[in-house]
Amino acid sequence: MAEADVVILGGGPGGYAAAIRSAQLGRSVVLIDEAEVGGTCLHRGCIPTKALLHAAEVADTARTAAQFGVTATFHGVDPEKLHAFKNTVVSRLHKGLSGLIDALGITVVNGCGRMTGPTTVEVDGATVTGESIVLATGSAPKVPQAIATSDRVLTSDQALELATIPQSAIILGGGVIGVEFASLWASFGVKVTIVEALPRLVPNEDAAISSYLERLFRRRRITAKTGARVTDVVSADDAVRVTLESGDELSADLLLVAVGRSPRTADLGLAEAGVDLDSGFVVTDDKLRSSVPSVYAIGDIVAGLQLAHRAFQQGIFVAEQIAGRDPDAVADIGIPRVTYCDPEIASVGLTEEAARERYGEGVETVTYDLAGNGRSQILKASGAVKLVVDPSGAVAGVHMIGRGVSELIGEAQLLYNLGVKAAEAAQLVHAHPTQNEALGEALMAVSGAPLHLHG
Ligand SMILES: Cc1cc2nc3c(=O)[nH]c(=O)nc-3n(C[C@H](O)[C@H](O)[C@H](O)COP(=O)(O)OP(=O)(O)OC[C@H]3O[C@@H](n4cnc5c(N)ncnc54)[C@H](O)[C@@H]3O)c2cc1C
Repeated sequence: MAEADVVILGGGPGGYAAAIRSAQLGRSVVLIDEAEVGGTCLHRGCIPTKALLHAAEVADTARTAAQFGVTATFHGVDPEKLHAFKNTVVSRLHKGLSGLIDALGITVVNGCGRMTGPTTVEVDGATVTGESIVLATGSAPKVPQAIATSDRVLTSDQALELATIPQSAIILGGGVIGVEFASLWASFGVKVTIVEALPRLVPNEDAAISSYLERLFRRRRITAKTGARVTDVVSADDAVRVTLESGDELSADLLLVAVGRSPRTADLGLAEAGVDLDSGFVVTDDKLRSSVPSVYAIGDIVAGLQLAHRAFQQGIFVAEQIAGRDPDAVADIGIPRVTYCDPEIASVGLTEEAARERYGEGVETVTYDLAGNGRSQILKASGAVKLVVDPSGAVAGVHMIGRGVSELIGEAQLLYNLGVKAAEAAQLVHAHPTQNEALGEALMAVSGAPLHLHG
């Protein structure tokens, strides 16, 4: 029987961040994972997708090199080498993470865990006891009951490991995961059709960003069928056939089901241990404590944004509380959101619609088009920076679209989370030529002193 101050079930970004911070604060830690530490993010999510998206960018650069005066020819993609590149990145990070966990004296138990009481977890017949338990079991792809997965109907887990590049693909779901795969496959020459039930792509973003994305995706010949529902999916030998409610029929080599992710909380013994659930998510208070006082929950199993950096932050937050500190929580609205398709999307804070709902008429917005930004022109980046300012003049939301804008989210999240007034931030100097200047220009414009913008 193992014993520790803190027992953590799940070694993804949430669980391993909680483990590292607990160990740094002098707590003994047991970290249980049935697979490898790093979780979805490192092995099936953030890192492998971004490696593939980088390769997609290289493919586009080769294909379009002539416009920069460089002679190059795009000959295609070698899936074996593509996966070797992605896997090398993942395994290097995994090695580094495992080394760090080891160096901190964290005990890693490899096996499937299940709660057997408020302070006990059973792993392969052995009991692990902890003064505090942290649940961090993450999420898995959601597949509607009416759809059967097959070698033509995939989730993101299988889509990351394709041995060949398909000629055509239908993507069910126009959210973050759907548009990232659409972008990467289109760069590899795949004919992509996205089917989204809601009226617009990336429906959680500001409506103006969705319009930009749809326009820029059209330019890339990615078809988006929005407000469209799937009624039937048939996997045949030669293709997958998808019927829409409108009666339209689509067919392609593959269908990617990207309609969201479900919390992995079934069969964990939670209800029996007295841990309350709501639609599969663990119910927590504002300290991320569950209905059982010794049990916390973090990451994708807590309703809200399913993002790795939210899981990291929640892991740190819980570890510090367990160690007797009183850390500040970060609300979901202050967490930066990035979608790594081409064009990239980066946002933080309220959309214009949400700000108007909250503050009424005194909300100001300004949109600065990247056409006026020198660096964006060099990078051939179309898009915009949209600022939403509340009636007090504070930045209430930043919404950006365009190649490279993910790197601007650091400043944007400081503006939002520190409640900075746009007029104050407008006095800061943004280096030239950077895409960061677009944010500076938007701040100047919304404060009534535009420089490279009129009207
Ligand atoms: C394709 C894709 C791309 C993504 N891209 C991004 C991105 O760019 N940026 C971003 O911020 N987020 C991204 N995400 C989301 C991100 O991966 C998740 O939000 C994050 O991994 C959640 O962390 P977690 O610790 O809650 O859970 P997970 O990372 O899912 O880890 C949970 C761990 O628990 C283990 N586990 C589960 N049940 C048990 C059990 N009973 N016993 C033992 N171990 C168990 C699992 O093996 C796993 O290792 C992406 C996700 C996907 C699928």
